[in-house]
Amino acid sequence: MYNVKDIFLDIIKYDTTSDELSKSYPSTETQLQFGKILADKLKTFGASNIEIDKYGYVTAEIPSNTEKECPTVGFIAHMDTSPECSGKNINPIITENYNGKDIVLNGIILSPTEFPSLLKYKGKTIISSDGTTLLGADDKAGIAEILSAIDYIVKNDTPHGKIKIAFTPDEEIGKGVDYFDVKKFGADFAYTFDGGEIGELEYENFNASRLNIEITGKSVHPGYAKNTMINASLIGAEIISSFPPSETPSRTEGYSGFFHLCSIKGSVSKCNLSYIIRDFDKNSLEERKLFASSVIKSINEKYGNVCAFEIYDEYENMISQFDDKMYIVDIAKKAMENKDITPNIRPIRGGTDGARLSFMGLPCPNIFAGGHNFHGPFEFIPVSSMEKAVDVIVEICRIVAEENII
Ligand SMILES: [Zn+2]
Repeated sequence: MYNVKDIFLDIIKYDTTSDELSKSYPSTETQLQFGKILADKLKTFGASNIEIDKYGYVTAEIPSNTEKECPTVGFIAHMDTSPECSGKNINPIITENYNGKDIVLNGIILSPTEFPSLLKYKGKTIISSDGTTLLGADDKAGIAEILSAIDYIVKNDTPHGKIKIAFTPDEEIGKGVDYFDVKKFGADFAYTFDGGEIGELEYENFNASRLNIEITGKSVHPGYAKNTMINASLIGAEIISSFPPSETPSRTEGYSGFFHLCSIKGSVSKCNLSYIIRDFDKNSLEERKLFASSVIKSINEKYGNVCAFEIYDEYENMISQFDDKMYIVDIAKKAMENKDITPNIRPIRGGTDGARLSFMGLPCPNIFAGGHNFHGPFEFIPVSSMEKAVDVIVEICRIVAEENII
């Protein structure tokens, strides 16, 4: 019914790995080239107002085909693939009618013993890489789903209001929406189709702060250091042990926050500690920040102002942007349920482009694109999950056009 599989297999041919060390935007020239290919496809499938700007954002629209006044809805997916694994010369392996056993790839085995979620797709068609690269379902599945939905909507003249589409670069290196022009995009709300197995719906993410500490010690000859030396690294260790050991990333999940020591660099005379602090609840994040400050304050009292520190906010939980707009989430939920998909609502233990867009004035929950095991050679996606994502896009458009949602 949908051509999503063919589109997907076609677009994963293009290497669009982003590069975190690059100074340009987009970070790689290949993303600009890929944008042109997507612009052509948008044209073929009947989109209008297709544009690629100098940053590589590809945008387009489908004019409304209904008399009814309804909001403009946007669909967004990212073009780049993770620099953590090669995305060049992807050679997809298509396993039809999956039998629930090991899928033997080049040098590695995609096994249900290690990845039990495979067993949910017995009898279905699974696409993986050949084991030497990632697959690129993150997020070319999202792109293929949006393109396939547009093709379907235009060909079948299914009811819809104005639809906006954006394909963005550099999501994997945290810069996906740096230059995104929300006003020009002109959608009232949008959905990213990114990552995640079938059913995933996300509209909550961490509140995030960073803590950098610099400890200045006093280095003297260790043989004659009594009552003189101040060892910055030892003080660093004291600070580290003052944080609750159970509140670290490896010991928390779900809605629990944490303090995460990202790096230590130390000698006798200097020690630098870098932490990220995360919590879903804004007040709890503030408490964590106060706790960190009090740890440093007591160290400074003990050793005499040896620590300088800074704490700053990185991003916020997007849920605050849905306070009076929960209908945006409800539309997605309803679209899934209407298509026999059980919504799996879970908090994102990180940040997303959608979260940033929400604070830029474009409320934007995230919906599954259907893949598993991203950023590495075990990545796979069932074709049926991609088809279901297309269903969800078409159904969201129909709900927005036909039902009184607000
Ligand atoms: Zn992604």
